[in-house]
Amino acid sequence: MKLAWVMRRFLHRFEWDEQTLTFRRIPWSPWQTLKAIPRSLFWGMLVGGGLIPFTYSYWESYFIESVQTEVQALHHEKRRLVASIQSIEAHRAVLYERVQKFYRPLLGLPPLPASEWDGGMGGAPSTPEELSLYRGHRLISEYLSLQKQLAEVNGRLERMPCLMPLQGRILSGFGYRTDPFTGAWQMHTGLDIDAPYGAPVRAAAAGKVIFAGWDYGGGYGIQVEIDHLNGLVTKYAHLSRLAVKEGDTVMRGQTIGYVGSTGYSTGAHLHYEVIERGVKVNPQKYLLLP
Ligand SMILES: [Zn+2]
Repeated sequence: MKLAWVMRRFLHRFEWDEQTLTFRRIPWSPWQTLKAIPRSLFWGMLVGGGLIPFTYSYWESYFIESVQTEVQALHHEKRRLVASIQSIEAHRAVLYERVQKFYRPLLGLPPLPASEWDGGMGGAPSTPEELSLYRGHRLISEYLSLQKQLAEVNGRLERMPCLMPLQGRILSGFGYRTDPFTGAWQMHTGLDIDAPYGAPVRAAAAGKVIFAGWDYGGGYGIQVEIDHLNGLVTKYAHLSRLAVKEGDTVMRGQTIGYVGSTGYSTGAHLHYEVIERGVKVNPQKYLLLP
């Protein structure tokens, strides 16, 4: 590339030509070119020298900003974690009270010692967060275990005949009495509950129907027998109609039949018995619910 060509190509100015109505290219004279050198150096140094620090400061500010953003995000996250741990702690405290003062005593268990909650065994948690997490886990496992035990107790209670099979005055209790037919002093093996003909009779507890029909041999008439699978059987006699059949599973309070006067009976009433491992006992021993 020749210097002359470079000068022609770049070192020139334009001038408006009135005659041709165009711009004319006027090449610079060598003197003009010479004069331009210090001027170019001056501007070059000014722009080039300033650009480098400017570029650096631009990148630095970019990194500083992103670091600041990260730091802020971390601060925010930390505040959120602290708040959520505090909220967990507050809820945990409520559940802890329930476990210690309600569920465990309800199941006949002593309250757990404090060391049980703080990770007494094995790798003890070191930071407050770890301790909080550990206690949370411990509480959940305690709750699940108590829930299982309560379900078992509840299942046992469900099968206790503590519900009156129907609302009504007790005409005749369990024990010796004068027989309404013969007038003889005789054992009465259940409760006679006064009720109008057709009144629904409820199961005293959950269980399985082991008999539903006529008692041809004895004087019970139409009767239902429920096995509560805990050594207890309940019997509902003198019914007019059945609402269940043999083999049915019943819930406490479920209608199993209707009051009548079938069998050895002088009028509409329910004869109700509880049989404990084959022995007829006073049903009032189990009655808790009206
Ligand atoms: Zn009776």
